[in-house]
Amino acid sequence: MDNICERIKCTGCSACFNICSKHAIRMLEDQHGFVYPQIDSTLCIDCGLCKKICPANNPVKLVYPTTCYAAAVADQNEHATCASGGLATELSKIIINRNGAVYGCSGNDIRNVHHIRVEKHIDLHLLKGSKYVQSHIGSTYQAVKNDLELGRMVLFVGTPCQVAGLHGYLFHKEFKNLITVDLVCHGVPSQKMLNDNIQYYCSSDETVEVAFRRKVTSVAGREASEHIEYGWFYKTSHMKNYCGVKPSKDAYMSGFLNMLIFRESCYNCRYACIARCGDFTLADFWGLGQDAGFANGRGVSAVLINTEKAIELWKSASLNCKYAERDTTEALKGNGRLQTPSKMPRNYRRFMSMYPHKDFKTAVFSCMNREKYKQRIHYLKMFLKG
Ligand SMILES: Cc1cc2nc3c(=O)[nH]c(=O)nc-3n(C[C@H](O)[C@H](O)[C@H](O)COP(=O)(O)OP(=O)(O)OC[C@H]3O[C@@H](n4cnc5c(N)ncnc54)[C@H](O)[C@@H]3O)c2cc1C
Ligand code: SF4
Ligand code: SF4
Ligand code: SF4
Repeated sequence: MDNICERIKCTGCSACFNICSKHAIRMLEDQHGFVYPQIDSTLCIDCGLCKKICPANNPVKLVYPTTCYAAAVADQNEHATCASGGLATELSKIIINRNGAVYGCSGNDIRNVHHIRVEKHIDLHLLKGSKYVQSHIGSTYQAVKNDLELGRMVLFVGTPCQVAGLHGYLFHKEFKNLITVDLVCHGVPSQKMLNDNIQYYCSSDETVEVAFRRKVTSVAGREASEHIEYGWFYKTSHMKNYCGVKPSKDAYMSGFLNMLIFRESCYNCRYACIARCGDFTLADFWGLGQDAGFANGRGVSAVLINTEKAIELWKSASLNCKYAERDTTEALKGNGRLQTPSKMPRNYRRFMSMYPHKDFKTAVFSCMNREKYKQRIHYLKMFLKG
């Protein structure tokens, strides 16, 4: 076995790594830090399983949502500490209450963001918040299968390509006790890029926490309002409080928000559409109408209910959240990644050829500046043309 799938289609989902019983596959970082499978031909017996289950080689079952809700958890402290409306945390609680296990992405060690298993309420904080980097799957799918076969309920939360990876690994077998949640996804930078950026703020032996968005309250006169702010928010062991850096001043957030630093597969993502691969889909409900009755400065989740299992869970659970049914097109309109993949910027190839030969910050800002410069020239020409 040489290649499992075309390199530009490989999402790094790690389904192939999980399926290979001969341990012939290792997920190795390329020069930009993105992981790709590498096969050890001395161990491979050419059984073809990795190729057979790889989502990039096969049709993936995508379904249209049946219902759409705007939702936010009721507990204000909980809401403040979640990425958006907190529905991933709420669904996780329901599964734990049913003696189940939850699999999701932990940024507790931000230099090694990866999927973990949680089965206690007290550990759910480890999964909260959006980590804007590719989460390492490791042998998570094997652990999920183990739980499923023991009859435990399982909730798996991840990017759509990770949910598709899990389905592929399970040979698309229907498990009644498995619930999947796919997050609407913009694209992912690599862990190496994130670690390179961390180095600009602290030494490699210092512990550091990083967040990419936070909920802030601003007061103007007697009016207090809340909103979600994007940026590079970090706190080392020597600091009392988080320090915030504007996206335009931070290389990682500039690169992320300008779609410059994603894995190549993200620009042709087959999951960036309204048909979904998870039982539930969660997104930020941008563009939610005021008539929905949410003060959405703190973040409201768009919850898409895609399958019978999701309908059943939503109906049977006593949800500790406020929710209102909305038209799916409302969520679709406000959210580009429910329509098309992120667009590859003109300077993507230039950035990738510069990094890592030039340091991360230099590579990002020189590509961004060139882009801005070209745009300015374009506008100037338009202006001069009259
Ligand atoms: C890389 C990335 C890009 C995104 N792009 C968009 C977008 O373009 N449009 C949009 O509407 N929403 C996007 N989201 C989703 C959004 O930011 C929220 O994560 C989502 O709405 C869930 O919010 P919540 O309050 O329910 O999450 P919380 O209750 O705070 O829980 C967070 C959940 O997200 C999971 N998670 C966090 N980081 C990752 C990761 N790196 N990989 C896999 N799972 C992760 C955790 O496992 C956890 O279950 C993106 C998320 C990520 C991670
Ligand atoms: S299974 Fe996933 S990681 Fe493996 S080759 Fe296919 S897309 Fe890449
Ligand atoms: S062909 Fe079989 S043995 Fe070889 S890498 Fe793929 S799964 Fe492993
Ligand atoms: S954009 Fe698509 S391919 Fe990229 S991480 Fe998100 S779901 Fe996976």
